[in-house]
Amino acid sequence: MPLGATRLPAAGRTRILCQQQPGGRPSSGAPAGFGFRCAGGAAAGGTRRLRLASPASASSVEAPGARGTEAQGAQTTYDLVVVGAGPSGLAVAERVASRGKKVVVVDPNPIGLWPNNYGVWIDEFEALGLEDCLDKTWSEATVFLDSGEEGERTLRRPYGRVDRKKLKTKLYEACVEHKVVFKEALAADVKHFTPCSGAGAKGHSDGLHVSTCGFSRVTCSDGEELRGKLLLDATGHAKKFVRFRDDYDPGYQGAYGVLVTVDSHPFDVDKMLFMDWRDDHLRDLPELKARNDRTPTFLYAMPFSETEIFFEETSLVARPAVPFDDLKERMEARLKHLGITVKGVHEEEFCLIPMGSSLPYVPQRALGIGGTAGMVHPSTGYMVSRMLGAAPGLADRIVDILAG
Ligand SMILES: Cc1cc2nc3c(=O)[nH]c(=O)nc-3n(C[C@H](O)[C@H](O)[C@H](O)COP(=O)(O)OP(=O)(O)OC[C@H]3O[C@@H](n4cnc5c(N)ncnc54)[C@H](O)[C@@H]3O)c2cc1C
Repeated sequence: MPLGATRLPAAGRTRILCQQQPGGRPSSGAPAGFGFRCAGGAAAGGTRRLRLASPASASSVEAPGARGTEAQGAQTTYDLVVVGAGPSGLAVAERVASRGKKVVVVDPNPIGLWPNNYGVWIDEFEALGLEDCLDKTWSEATVFLDSGEEGERTLRRPYGRVDRKKLKTKLYEACVEHKVVFKEALAADVKHFTPCSGAGAKGHSDGLHVSTCGFSRVTCSDGEELRGKLLLDATGHAKKFVRFRDDYDPGYQGAYGVLVTVDSHPFDVDKMLFMDWRDDHLRDLPELKARNDRTPTFLYAMPFSETEIFFEETSLVARPAVPFDDLKERMEARLKHLGITVKGVHEEEFCLIPMGSSLPYVPQRALGIGGTAGMVHPSTGYMVSRMLGAAPGLADRIVDILAG
């Protein structure tokens, strides 16, 4: 039954996506009720709030003829233990392994589909040789600064949505080709051992004063232990093992998104709507307008056709984060103003990205990349292209270090 646009109907095939939040550190900026740790699908010790209701075939990658080899436990010393099979972890694992090093990747669901919907600038993805991993492209992007005649700007820079399944399959298959070992578990704990810890490595250091000597031993949730000459923390914003100098109290980018079927919408299907800051829809809603004046939000939209479109109401950064209910209310008011009638909601996305990071101790045995390393763009929250671009350099440095 078609519903009016005043209230968004409940999602039919709901995909509630992970909010990402730094693990184990103060987070006064996170909205109340969402204080859990979760990165890319792993409840890293906190409450799990990921529901993937899509068909099983669509929620994992296809790796024909190749499931990664099972890890072989503490008797093997790997050159590199990678914790986290997100984009950054797989990209580094594949490259280090391609140079003949023994690599293991630990993740609770190594072949699971990543939950986040990624948008990227196409030139950046082309430079990475990943243009085949986009499922929809737009030739231009539009920004509305305000409702005035000068308010509309066109960014002549093609934009695309990442085909998550293709990208993950590509990285995963490259890992398998180079004999990366996959361990299906959470990494629960790590101990770092140095030669000065004593014969037989009975003691362990605090992990902060060594970089290339000794080894790290990761204990998995099933009790298995993995030993690595080097350790890469690629757990996203969970930041499981890298140690930081200061408490981490970030502002958050918050966004509430929906993939919907609509009767019609006013947006050009050849352009994506990068930021719509217009607030005409709040003219008769003084309370909502006051909230928006305090913490402005904009609409981001990816039109897939005349009737299928992804909307996201986004707060670039706020401390504390703008609550999801607030973002949803603002989106509903906006859609009503635009005369958009939502017929069905196929996915919901709850996005919470800590912006920035404190500095890590240097040197330390746990290396970081991606969300763990605070590679987030400081104003837009974008990260995918940057971390995939940084992965080869980090991987090559790891190989150099291993070579002594
Ligand atoms: C909803 C959402 C939308 C986003 N959209 C965009 C976008 O459009 N464009 C963009 O550039 N960026 C976007 N981002 C930013 C995004 O966080 C990063 O781009 C990216 O996912 C970070 O990659 P990563 O490899 O560092 O970590 P993640 O992708 O978070 O992967 C971390 C992996 O580590 C695993 N893990 C966690 N803890 C453990 C543990 N203890 N043991 C073992 N494994 C563990 C997780 O299961 C996961 O597989 C978005 C973020 C969110 C939350």
